[in-house]
Amino acid sequence: MSSGVEYVRREVRQMAGYSPGHQPLPGSKVIKLNTNESPLPPSPAVVQAISKVLADSPLLRRYPDPQSMELRRVAAAIAGCRVEQVIAGNGSDELLRILLDTFIEEGEKVAFFSPSYSLYPVLTKIRGGAVQVLPLFQDGLLYQPRLDDAKLFFLTTPNAPLGFSFTNDYIRQMASNLNGILVVDEAYADFAQENALPLLAELENLVILRTLSKSYGLASLRVGLGFASAALIEQLEKVRDSYNLDRLAQVGARAALEDQEYLRETVALVVSERERLASVLQEIGFTVAPSQTNFIFVTPPSPYKAAELYAGLEKAGILVRYFSDPQLFHGLRISIGTRDEMDQLIMTMKNLMQIGDLK
Ligand SMILES: *Cc1c(COP(=O)(O)O)cnc(C)c1O
Repeated sequence: MSSGVEYVRREVRQMAGYSPGHQPLPGSKVIKLNTNESPLPPSPAVVQAISKVLADSPLLRRYPDPQSMELRRVAAAIAGCRVEQVIAGNGSDELLRILLDTFIEEGEKVAFFSPSYSLYPVLTKIRGGAVQVLPLFQDGLLYQPRLDDAKLFFLTTPNAPLGFSFTNDYIRQMASNLNGILVVDEAYADFAQENALPLLAELENLVILRTLSKSYGLASLRVGLGFASAALIEQLEKVRDSYNLDRLAQVGARAALEDQEYLRETVALVVSERERLASVLQEIGFTVAPSQTNFIFVTPPSPYKAAELYAGLEKAGILVRYFSDPQLFHGLRISIGTRDEMDQLIMTMKNLMQIGDLK
């Protein structure tokens, strides 16, 4: 008897699928430091704006604005570009998929570094593209590849899960080394000192992706933004779902963008906790990769093993991210939480390592 599965495309049958970080059930008492969400709620203006729509329920009968025009206008004003240079997506994950659907024919190459965002190979395979994985470093230096046949290059900057930023000089060079489109995935740029937006006017083969899931505390709302030349955005707009952002997401995201002061305050808090956690872990022997994001990648001193510390933390109700990948298995990626959460993490870590408090 047939199960129907034999009709599934070979690429899909053979792939493993993306494995997202663990999302505990609502109400479970864990300290969640495993998927780089904001430890702080979104701006109160977001809740107000969404409540206003909910209070006017006849509005929900209607389809939302297919162009997400108001949201894009605000995004363009903040980025200092024209509204025609902005696309809104159902999370930046949708924008990645739109980019693949727009540019990649069956068998064409999509390149990216390893380690970087583990969704890239999954989406590339679904599209039927050919994955080209490149090492981040060569001879101890950042690799600056020259690629003639990659149609798309996904560059995560700041890098996840390591946390460092590529400079704009590097990005400029990379764009000119490519015979294709450079997609700069800036999911964490709000925590960084530099970003690629100033290059938008200069580079025609550049697409910049942002998300409201991290710095704006809105991972639930699913809103991402893409920036590029008006000519490229016009093509991408044809490929997305016509109503890809629901009304609540459009209204909430716009309110979040309009409250830049709240963004600055929350980012400052996260950055100061990041620096504090980094220095405490360094004091007890960890190697801490310098971070321009809302997480840090840390390697415990010998004889401690990252996998064992991960398991010990989980037992104590603290979720961090452990990757079994040979390039990353020596460390842990820890999202920055509130001050209290960081204190709990530090205490638990010292207990696991049997380091007495010296104070
Ligand atoms: C979190 C993350 C995304 C996904 O963002 P969404 O807008 O939630 O889909 C994309 N790229 C990187 C590098 C990320 O860390």
